[in-house]
Amino acid sequence: MNIAGLDLQDLTDFSFSEISEAFLQLELPKFRANQIWSWIWCHGVTDFQDMNNISKPIRSLLAEHFIIARPAISRRQKSYDGTIKWLIRLSDGHEVETVYIPEEDRGTLCISSQVGCTLNCSFCHTGTQRLVRNLTVGEICSQILLAMDELGEWPAGKLNRKLTNIVLMGMGEPLFNYENVAKAMKIVMSGDGIGISKRRITLSTSGIVPEIIRCGEDLGVNLAISLHAVNDTLRNELVPINRKYNLQALIDAVRNYPGLSNTRRVTWEYVMLDGVNDSQEDAIALLKLIRGIPSKINLIPFNPWPGSNYISSKSEKIEKFAAILLKAGYASPIRTPRGSDILAACGQLKSDSVRLRASQRA
Ligand code: SAH
Ligand code: SF4
Repeated sequence: MNIAGLDLQDLTDFSFSEISEAFLQLELPKFRANQIWSWIWCHGVTDFQDMNNISKPIRSLLAEHFIIARPAISRRQKSYDGTIKWLIRLSDGHEVETVYIPEEDRGTLCISSQVGCTLNCSFCHTGTQRLVRNLTVGEICSQILLAMDELGEWPAGKLNRKLTNIVLMGMGEPLFNYENVAKAMKIVMSGDGIGISKRRITLSTSGIVPEIIRCGEDLGVNLAISLHAVNDTLRNELVPINRKYNLQALIDAVRNYPGLSNTRRVTWEYVMLDGVNDSQEDAIALLKLIRGIPSKINLIPFNPWPGSNYISSKSEKIEKFAAILLKAGYASPIRTPRGSDILAACGQLKSDSVRLRASQRA
């Protein structure tokens, strides 16, 4: 980032070893890196002047080279059900959305990995956004930092945390921005920081097969697959990346995902589209497809958005579909939409700025 002609680097982009390396260049001892790391990731501090165990001259030296950035909040909306959606403005003016979903036994933060998405799934609002770029490591991490500021979660690791889980299910395809997503998740998992375990992080993908294996080996986070169709013809239409990585390739990759077991199952996401993919035959074919893979199934009633061409399956139809799955041993798979009054539910995310431009065009 270039502020007033100075090239200031954002420390939320840095792994611990990168901070140590940069400090070495400034002839600062390693323990300074430990201190800064703790201020950023345990205490949520953004101003070097607030770091009271660091002498004033060193604080000034750090401020000459670095910043600890927080993106701005363009809009904050709270749903009747407690869900909070933040529209976050990045330093170049692009916007992404982050959603906090409180539940009885957990609080989940749904974060974005890209501005928009290149993948154009036919039922997804984000896919209609033309503007696309990968988020940086700092931009991925700072969604979590910002939510922790807003929820009063500092210092990190308090008892009764409000933010316990992370899902990469916001805007974008995380496996198309794998390097940054992986580095960001490693920072977030770090025990001497926010310390959210890999068992409490879920990455959702539309099925970028080569990266699925890599993600399992390298990160070991929980995996969710946006399946939505049980034959290639329909999946090609709903999730066009299927033309590149078809169902057989996808199922094989998931079957080999490291660490799957009955206590660590893959989640299959299945959006219920009226008359499209919601028949009893589809349910039976679904069971056949995932046979032998430790699985959970999430049936997601389609969440409409302005201009969408689908309607959600009726609840009786969804229940019938669920009953077939239940009989085969998959319990309560229907996901209640959260925050739908503020367009925060799955697949409704799209920057308001883009929405605004679209409505201005109309
Ligand atoms: N790109 C990734 C993660 C973001 S989408 C992926 O596709 O998995 C998060 C989930 O919301 C996906 O399962 C997606 O298929 C689903 N989704 C998208 N649009 C939806 C809509 N309008 N209603 C319900 N679910 C939707
Ligand atoms: Fe992209 Fe996921 Fe939406 Fe498909 S469902 S367009 S992959 S964000």
